[in-house]
Amino acid sequence: MHLIAMQADDDLETALLGPVLPNRACGDCTVCCTVLTVDTPDFSKPGGAPCAHLVAEGCGIHADRPHICRTWFCAWRRIADMPEDSRPDRSGILVSMDFVREPRNCFEGVSIMVRLLPGSKAIDNGMAGAILDILCEDLVPVWVTDGSKKMLMHPDNSIASLVLSGDPAPAHLRAEVTAWRDRYASLAAKD
Ligand code: SF4
Ligand code: SF4
Repeated sequence: MHLIAMQADDDLETALLGPVLPNRACGDCTVCCTVLTVDTPDFSKPGGAPCAHLVAEGCGIHADRPHICRTWFCAWRRIADMPEDSRPDRSGILVSMDFVREPRNCFEGVSIMVRLLPGSKAIDNGMAGAILDILCEDLVPVWVTDGSKKMLMHPDNSIASLVLSGDPAPAHLRAEVTAWRDRYASLAAKD
């Protein structure tokens, strides 16, 4: 499995998360410059390690930063419903699209990843729950990771297992299972 946490797929991110909001700025946040894996033709860095260009003031090559760094933005920069104080450096949560080149199932290839950063208090103070409530409304899978393991949060287990198994859904779940199957039919057929 290969994670491409940042990739030059701005159109897909715009379609799924919305356009970059004009009234939000990264400010002092540099979370993505450390946390994420970058794997693009002209720039790459490993996840979980500060970029070699990151200095105390921020990006040390800001004026000449790579294309991906000019065009990529986390979900907080795109989703107006995410609270103002959920900026990653303040909340300890980084939300972004996640792309897996060789997904194990139809929920993994393209999804929203909620990363709980080391020392984050977002579960205890309710921020994680508030963000998940916002994210788990559409037909886009949502995962949560603490950096070591990841868990599918949306759809929930009962829906996900029916979508993957192809078993008949009970009446009260049928509409939701059908909606997910329709969306991922071609991917599920390859599993
Ligand atoms: S994590 Fe989001 S808010 Fe923070 S620097 Fe990256 S794009 Fe900006
Ligand atoms: S080049 Fe600059 S903006 Fe891009 S990841 Fe490194 S420090 Fe961040």
